[in-house]
Amino acid sequence: MTMTDPLPLQAITFDLDDTLWDNHGVMVATETGHYAWLDRELAGWLQAHGRSTSPRFSECFPLESFELRRRALAHAHPLHRGHFTWLRERALTEMLGEYGLEPATAEQWARAAMARFMELRHRVEPHPEVEPLLTGLGRHYRLASITNGNVDIQRLALGRHFPVAIAAGEILAPKPDPRPFLAALARLGASPARALHVGDSWREDVEPARRLGMQVAWISPHVDDTPMPPGIHRLDHVRELPALLRRLGQPAPEWELR
Ligand SMILES: [Mg+2]
Repeated sequence: MTMTDPLPLQAITFDLDDTLWDNHGVMVATETGHYAWLDRELAGWLQAHGRSTSPRFSECFPLESFELRRRALAHAHPLHRGHFTWLRERALTEMLGEYGLEPATAEQWARAAMARFMELRHRVEPHPEVEPLLTGLGRHYRLASITNGNVDIQRLALGRHFPVAIAAGEILAPKPDPRPFLAALARLGASPARALHVGDSWREDVEPARRLGMQVAWISPHVDDTPMPPGIHRLDHVRELPALLRRLGQPAPEWELR
């Protein structure tokens, strides 16, 4: 190997939300869907138990107040600020208690609403190119996912491509903390210099990965010709990853989306 040969890449790590799928629509549907489910099911349950359903839970606690409650909890529990599932369940339990439910009943309903939330949350639709892309990349590289969000990749068909999946919020070290990157690389057995991270957030993906010495593919569809700093490669879409790998002198899957 000469000085000009690129270091062969061994591992690729992927952000999930807004990298492998568009997250906005599913997030809105999840947010409104599970809250409406809770409001409806709880009213039915109260009625069946001969208890008053007026005012409704959602009248006492509109969706905006749920968000404010989560923010206040994150502020009061900074260690848990990235653990969105914990924040959500805790906020719901508090509000349901204030609505008049006994503590154990409030906890049960909060847990049920979160189960509904997680079911809706996993209705993401990966970009059609992602499945063949990961299949091809898996032949050349070790793959990991690193997310701050609450999608459990192992609940999706795509999960089989990721022997390592890091939920950064759950380990209480959300990106841009370097620890989820280091945890993924350690488990893949790759050094940062031999790894590429793919993600859409400049602050949470690009900066921390680059600081560790990883190559970075920044998924940013905004047309912009600003030259990128060394080691950072802007792509419109994750489907452009094989072309980037070839430009970097690395093996890349040969596939065409028909
Ligand atoms: Mg993202």
